[in-house]
Amino acid sequence: MERATVQVVSKGDIEIRVIRERCISAGTCAVYAEKTFDIDEGGIAVIRNQDWDGLEKIIAAAESCPVLAIEVYQKGVKLFSN
Ligand code: SF4
Repeated sequence: MERATVQVVSKGDIEIRVIRERCISAGTCAVYAEKTFDIDEGGIAVIRNQDWDGLEKIIAAAESCPVLAIEVYQKGVKLFSN
């Protein structure tokens, strides 16, 4: 996937966005929510195409990102603010 891509994936009423050009490969998202986030060959976070972790883990992953590269929405409402 292109580095500049903003990856947007929805499941049910949850939407996750990864702003890949911000990602600095810290990897904490994939530790907090390993079923939801992966790190690609280029070291950049991607959203996994499988059943995700529970919402609490997804939010913890987003909050763990040091560069705010992950956004999580439910029914169009952003679920946390940094
Ligand atoms: S936590 Fe943020 S910087 Fe680290 S891999 Fe995930 S998206 Fe990238």
